[in-house]
Order: sequence, then C-alpha cells, then structure tokens
Amino acid sequence: QVSFVNCRQKGISHSMDNKQVLIEVSHLTHIYETEGEAPFYALRDVSLQINKGDFVAVIGTNGSGKSTLARHLDAILLPSEGDVLVDGLSVKNPDDIWKIRPYVLRNKGNPMEDEWEELGPMKPDNQLVASIVEDDVAFGPENLGVPREEIIARVADSLKKVGMESYRKHSPSMLSGGQKQRIAIAGVLAMHPECIVLDGPTAMLDPSGRKEVMETIHRLNKEMGITIVLITHFMEEAVTANRVVVIHKGQITADGTPEDVFSKVEEMKAGGLDVPVPTELSYRLAQLGLPIRGDCMTNKELGEELCRFVLKK
Ligand code: ADP
Ligand code: MG
Repeated sequence: QVSFVNCRQKGISHSMDNKQVLIEVSHLTHIYETEGEAPFYALRDVSLQINKGDFVAVIGTNGSGKSTLARHLDAILLPSEGDVLVDGLSVKNPDDIWKIRPYVLRNKGNPMEDEWEELGPMKPDNQLVASIVEDDVAFGPENLGVPREEIIARVADSLKKVGMESYRKHSPSMLSGGQKQRIAIAGVLAMHPECIVLDGPTAMLDPSGRKEVMETIHRLNKEMGITIVLITHFMEEAVTANRVVVIHKGQITADGTPEDVFSKVEEMKAGGLDVPVPTELSYRLAQLGLPIRGDCMTNKELGEELCRFVLKK
C-alpha cells in the first residue's frame, strides 16, 4: 500500500527555458521478450520532454508503440534501455517508484482495443467496479490510503469537476459511454495526479460521448493545470492539443504544434495516418490554385477562409 502523497504541492524542476519539466523520457528503448521469438523493439531511442500543464496528443498507426510509451509514463513498464524521470526521479530506482507513481496516472482505454493491457496497480481495467458511482470514484484514493474524510471531499470535488455530481448515487451500469468515461476520469482525478495519461478514452464512444469526454479533459487541463497526454486515433481530437507527437514503428517521427505536424499532409499520409478533414480539404484546394491557406486545422478556420475567398471575388 502506498502512503498518501499530495503531489500537487511538491516542487517541480525547471528546464532551461523556465518551463517546468514533469516527465523526461530519455533515449528510451523497450524490448518485449517473448519465449521462442526474437526480441521485439517496441520503442527505440525515444526522447521526449513533457512540461507541466502541457496537453500532448500522441498519434500513430496500430502497433506503433503508443500504449507501450503510455505504460512507461506511469512506470508500469520499465526501460530496457534509457530512462524516464518523473519530477527528476528515475523510474529505475526501486526506492522511488512508489513516490513517483501517484504523479502520473493512466486511464486505460478499453481492454478490447488493447490485447496486451495488463493489470495496473489501481483497477483491473477501465470498467467501473462498484455498484454506485461515488464508491467507484473512491476506489483509487482508498487504495492510496487517503483518510476517510478527505476521500469524501475528493469524491464530491472530482464528480463536480467532470460534471457528474448529480449522478453520485446512480449505478454506473445505467450511464452512457461518455458518462462512464467521465466517472473513470473522476476516479483518477480523486487521486490528485499531476498528469493524466489517457489511452484511447474516446475509442468506443459515439460523437456526443467523445465531445463530452474531450471537453472534460480540456477543462481539467485549463482549470486545474493537470498535464494531459492523450493517445487518440481521432485527428480532430489531436488538433485540440498544444502539441502533437507522432510515433511510427517505435520512434518519434514528428513533434510540434498541430499546425506544424498536420500541415505536412503528404508525409502524414505516407506514414499511414490521416490529417483532419478541414486540413486535407484546404490543402487540396490550395493545391488546385485557390488563394486560401492550405493548413486549416478546424472546420471553423476552413469556413472562414472559404468565406473570405468567396466575398473577395
Ligand atoms: P499501439 O498502442 O501503438 O497500438 P503497442 O505499444 O500496444 O502499440 O504495441 C507495440 C508493438 O509491441 C506491437 O507490435 C505489439 O504487438 C507489441 N507488443 C505490445 N505489448 C506486447 C507484449 N506484452 N508482449 C509482446 N509484444 C507486445
Ligand atoms: Mg494501444
């Protein structure tokens, strides 16, 4: 059992440009060893710095190593080579691992999507375990040994933060997919993490559920300063991040603002990825000679560009 740590009060180291570095992935290689098979390099020499307050989207084709990276961020996997530092502490130091685990919590996507998902320290999977919502949210802080009174306050607060306070006595099984995800996020939130890693949180949701969850995640980032690492297959979701990291065959092939990354339409396609629909459309129209920006990221931007063009004519 872990002792109660309130990470959010701790000092966090500063990098050169005065941004606070939360996670430093340094020359990380991960090799899966399966008996009777050649060692498999799922990540190869990956370096990545995640600053406090960042909203980072990680994209990549199936099997590119996204979930493997996610499992390193919450120290469920340990580096084969290289290192991961969380608030300056190395995941390779067994004495520090319990100190650093509460900093970064991973909300697993869904077990159906990820055949390799193993049991985490907190919950068997993303399915809600208790028969009423508030007990489910209390599960994480209870495991951390948080005192009873404090748990009650945290549960109420977390449910409020995800906009689900009126459902606290409900049965999770009666909720929509989007609401279930928000309850799962409240459960993570109640553990007071510095960073939440979300591996495909919207994969199984309908458009309105996806919108609900994305709005919730953004609110946690903006209003509470929680660092977000979002793994997603949806390019429209990746566009809403401050930063997009592309992983291809275990290596980072692009890392920058959504504009930097998605404006390279041909490169993205060559790597088996899509770009957001408005980006592709504006790119193609610009290629056809229309005098508009070829790197619109959202429908709104594309609409504005087209209006400008039509009105000018
Ligand atoms: P992604 O999340 O991007 O789809 P993963 O990180 O889950 O990719 O997997 C990367 C590669 O590593 C895949 O080829 C996958 O089959 C392999 N892999 C993942 N987990 C294991 C494991 N526990 N044992 C062996 N190979 C694995
Ligand atoms: Mg995965």
